[in-house]
Amino acid sequence: MSQAPAPAAPARPTAGRGRNLELSEELKAYKGVWVFIEHDRGHVHSVSWELVGEARKLADQLGCPVSAIILGGADEGLEKFAAEAFSFGADHAYLMQDPVLKGYRNEPFTKGLTDLVNKYKPEILLLGATSQGRDLAGSVATTLLTGLTADCTELRIDPNTKALAATRPTFGGSLYCTIMTLAYRPQMATVRPRVMEMPRADATRTGTSSYDTLGLVETQIVTKLLDFIADAHSNKINLPYADVIVSGGKGMKTPENFKLVFELARVLGGEVGATRPCVQAGWVEADRQVGQTGKTVRPKLYIAAGISGAVQHRVGCEAADVIVAINTDVNAPIFDFAHYGIVGNAMQVLPALTQAFAAHLALRMRQVA
Ligand SMILES: Cc1cc2nc3c(=O)[nH]c(=O)nc-3n(C[C@H](O)[C@H](O)[C@H](O)COP(=O)(O)OP(=O)(O)OC[C@H]3O[C@@H](n4cnc5c(N)ncnc54)[C@H](O)[C@@H]3O)c2cc1C
Repeated sequence: MSQAPAPAAPARPTAGRGRNLELSEELKAYKGVWVFIEHDRGHVHSVSWELVGEARKLADQLGCPVSAIILGGADEGLEKFAAEAFSFGADHAYLMQDPVLKGYRNEPFTKGLTDLVNKYKPEILLLGATSQGRDLAGSVATTLLTGLTADCTELRIDPNTKALAATRPTFGGSLYCTIMTLAYRPQMATVRPRVMEMPRADATRTGTSSYDTLGLVETQIVTKLLDFIADAHSNKINLPYADVIVSGGKGMKTPENFKLVFELARVLGGEVGATRPCVQAGWVEADRQVGQTGKTVRPKLYIAAGISGAVQHRVGCEAADVIVAINTDVNAPIFDFAHYGIVGNAMQVLPALTQAFAAHLALRMRQVA
C-alpha cells in the first residue's frame, strides 16, 4: 500500500537553514525598531509606552529609528496616539486607518501588521504581552515565519551579533534563558505590562508620520464585531499599576486570616496581591496572583505577609521600590531580596501595622483640618 505524499512545507526563508546562521542579503536590509501601539476605546495601553522607552534604548545602540505602529478606525484618534508616541521616544509613526480596524480582530490586524513589515522591513518588532498582543504576535510571527520570544523580562543588543538578546524565564521559572533570532527577521518579542520602566514623556519631541492602506473589506473577514460588552469585573483589580500592594501567602493559614491583608491594604489605599497557592485554594481571585504565571507589579511599596519568596513569586514583585517581608522563618528566601524584614507572626504584625497606619492617618487628617 502506498502512502499519500506529505503536504509540501510552506516556503521558508533560506537563511539560517541547517547550521548556517548568517542573515541573507535580503534580511540584512531589515532596519529599525518597531513597537505595536495597543489601544482600546480612546486609550493606549501603558505597556506600549513602556516598550517605546525600551525600543529607544535598543535603537540608540543600533543607530536606527524607533517607529510606532498604529492601526485603527479613522475616528479613533490615531494621530493623537502618534504624538504621544513621539513624546515617549518614537521617531516615526506608521498609521493604518480603516473601518475594519475599529476594534481589535485578529485577521485584519494580522494582515495590516504583516503587510507593513513586508513593505518597510523592521529589524525588531515589540508587542505587549497582553491578551491582544499575545494573540497578534503569534499570528504575525507564524505568518512571517520568524522567531518570537514571549514574556521577556530583559531586552538588549548582543554586542557580537547585534541581534536582539531576549531573556525570559524557563523551566518553570527556575532558570532564565536568552533567545536570539539569528537567521530570520524581524526579531519579535512580547513583554508584560510593568516589566519595563515607564519612560518620561517629553512634550517637545516630534516625529514624522506616514499612512498605509489595509486592502481588506468586511466581507473578507470571518469574525464579526457585533457589540462591546464591558466585563463587570475588569479594571477592578489593577495590580500592575498599583502604587501600594499588600500580598498574602500560604503563611496566612486560612481565608479568614487573609482579611488582615485586605484591611492593611484598605488603610494604605492599596491593592491586595497573593501567591499562587492562595489563588489555587480559592482564597482570592486569580487576578490577584503576583508572579511568573500571574501579574508583574512595580509598586512603590510591596508588603509580603506569609510569603516564602519562591523564584516564581519573586520575578513578579522584585521591581518594587520597597519590599517589606513578614515571615516567621528567618531563613525564608524572601529575606534575600526584601528591603525590610520583620521576623514575626503575620497574624500579629498585620493588625499592628493596620492600627499604627490608621492612627497616623487620623492624626494627619486632624492636622490638616
Ligand atoms: C510553573 C510554575 C509557575 C508558578 N507561578 C507562580 C506565580 O505566578 N506566583 C506565585 O506566587 N507562585 C507561583 N508558583 C508557585 C511557587 O513555586 C511557590 O510554590 C509559591 O510562590 C509559594 O507560595 P507561598 O509563599 O504562599 O507558600 P509557601 O511556600 O508555603 O510559604 C509560606 C511562608 O509563610 C511563612 N509563614 C508560615 N506561618 C507564618 C506566619 N504565621 N506568619 C508569617 N509567615 C508565616 C513560612 O515560613 C513560609 O515562608 C509557580 C510554580 C510553578 C512550578
